[in-house]
Amino acid sequence: MMMRLLRRAPALLAFLLLPAPALFCQAPKPQTSSRTPVLLITIDTLRADHLQCYGYKDVQTPAIDALAARGTLFEHAYSEVPLTLPSHTAILSGTYPMWNGVRTFDTAGVPPNVGLLSQAFERHGYRTAAFVSSFVLDRSWGLDRGFETYDDRFATKQYETRNPGDIERRGDKTVDHVIAWLQSVHAAAPGSPPFFIWLHLYDPHSPYDPPQPFHSEYAGHLYDGEIAFTSAQLGRLFAFMRKRGLYRRSLIVLTADHGESLGQHGEAEHGFFIYTATLHVPLIFKLPEDALAPQKVNAPVELVDIAPTILDLLHIRDPLTQQFQGVSLASRILKRASSPRRPAYAETYYPFDSFGWSPLRSILTRRYQFISAPHPELYNLIKDPGELDNLYNKDRALADALRSRLVDVEREYTPREAMTAGAGPALSEATLAKLKSLGYLAYSAPAPLSSPESLPDPKSEIHVYNTILHAQDLSALGRYHQADAILKGIQQKDPSLYLVPFMQAENASRMRNWPEAERQFVACLKLNPHFENAMMGVARAYFSAGEGLKAEPWLKLALHEKPSNFLAYYMLGLIAERSGRKDEALAQLKKSIQVKSDYEPAEEALGILLVEMQRYAEALGPLERARSLGPVGAHLENFLGTAYSNTNQLARGAASYAEAVRLDPQYGAARLNLAFAYLKMGKRSQGIAEFQELCRQNPSLCQQYRSYFQ
Ligand SMILES: [Zn+2]
Repeated sequence: MMMRLLRRAPALLAFLLLPAPALFCQAPKPQTSSRTPVLLITIDTLRADHLQCYGYKDVQTPAIDALAARGTLFEHAYSEVPLTLPSHTAILSGTYPMWNGVRTFDTAGVPPNVGLLSQAFERHGYRTAAFVSSFVLDRSWGLDRGFETYDDRFATKQYETRNPGDIERRGDKTVDHVIAWLQSVHAAAPGSPPFFIWLHLYDPHSPYDPPQPFHSEYAGHLYDGEIAFTSAQLGRLFAFMRKRGLYRRSLIVLTADHGESLGQHGEAEHGFFIYTATLHVPLIFKLPEDALAPQKVNAPVELVDIAPTILDLLHIRDPLTQQFQGVSLASRILKRASSPRRPAYAETYYPFDSFGWSPLRSILTRRYQFISAPHPELYNLIKDPGELDNLYNKDRALADALRSRLVDVEREYTPREAMTAGAGPALSEATLAKLKSLGYLAYSAPAPLSSPESLPDPKSEIHVYNTILHAQDLSALGRYHQADAILKGIQQKDPSLYLVPFMQAENASRMRNWPEAERQFVACLKLNPHFENAMMGVARAYFSAGEGLKAEPWLKLALHEKPSNFLAYYMLGLIAERSGRKDEALAQLKKSIQVKSDYEPAEEALGILLVEMQRYAEALGPLERARSLGPVGAHLENFLGTAYSNTNQLARGAASYAEAVRLDPQYGAARLNLAFAYLKMGKRSQGIAEFQELCRQNPSLCQQYRSYFQ
């Protein structure tokens, strides 16, 4: 009962009982204010115990250690969910996954009524910017709210060749963007508004492949090499900030979304289990002006505590604090007060959502971890940090007490009505009929999760899971037939696993066997009718096979599942354009850009379509944006040339055509356009010269236009 009260208190306490600013004046120095710049760093997949400042010796992380040497280091910080999007949602919203609804990656994104830290900063006059390094945090998931800048640009090629989950950007690039942003924003006068930056670095996530010299220096333990590389990039950012006096003045918070199992308990990576290998993360707060002597805090804290702590440290009073379910650690940091000890909550629904096995939920105290599963577990974290000796049968009373705390926390934070991101556009009868004819079984309600105890325990299925991962690795190496053979074996034992036909479909796609890909994607959707990735997969298969019209209903279904799917809008736009429905194509491409304004292929397609519709002035905006986003191709330059030439900008038009010809000297249409542009500009001899070159390359095209150049 005590626990329930303590757990319930935070939301109210954080809002009503914040120490008034005057109170902070008695603390060492009042160094923070609502004008303090804030840098929140989240390093993906970083185990706390693989940093020097957490006692690890086999890695060089000087930038991170220096931060810890000036700040407060929480020795036992725990992630609520060892999955990227759910964990970042908990960090940025200060709420538990059962409340905010983002529990796995099989989600439509962050529900609109979940408030984010960035929105509080925006309301308080901060410049806000996010820099993320993986598609799994792309703005279409909804974490972009409140950010004036949301930098999630990845090389466009990756969208065509990779699984969305594998699209990433290396830390040096992301840090370059942060520095460029700081240069542009902070070049302003001293009275300029403070900033809130969220920087997400993805390098320690698998595959472990750090650039040189880290690759050689860390041969044999490349995961550490990625961490060292990441720290070096932070070192570069901190050096820049020091030069500008920003390092000293800023509140800098460093943490990770989850750890990495590295083979413990049979798990190679993260997400499947919830042992401390993947829950224990670093958490460091460095205050401005080195106001405090460094300190280490031993009590367990959670990632949901970060947002409340940041706002509290800055004395920012904002409606968002009413949403918080974590507690502020400010008094612990500033006054070294010992706040009441409370356990940390953690869960993973990944085994359930992806395989139909039991979810796992857990409570962690300083001393114990209890894991609720069909075969429950209890570990003494002090005597047995590797969690090898399950005490459940030896200490039932303790396990039961912790289980009842777990139930309390869940009851406390589960909203009466589930938060959802909401369904997308309704499907027409015609679309539903088409889907049925293509083999889709329409909607079936997801199986209710009444008694997870009756489901298979993930512990007993880890070998199946690892076999699936092995098949995935083989696919990544291009050994599709070997992968398929393994998947067939799994399917024979358990035909209910929807990921198996999905992976077989992906393999067929990579081998360009479109009919097989389609068959397997549809088989996957029969097992899980809401699996958006499979809907996109079928659509891609049809699209690549030149059957765009068959792809259309699947894209609409995917949008119904996730309304912010900009790739689906983009493909619908291309299909409509190819079937001559230009106005519809225009509308779809515009929707794609509405969701993701800097998606270069959509900007380019929209600009070209507008040129084809002779709406030249309108075409300029998208074409110029596409050019600034790059990579620039001859095709784009040729259409830009036409847009300029038809809006009284002949010289610019000629320059674009010339660039198109430079990029592709055999591009007949562009050379012809260039020749005409010179004629129009009165540069007749240059026009004739280009035309003669065209005649050498392409006699038939030359023949059609010869009369103009006589
Ligand atoms: Zn992650």
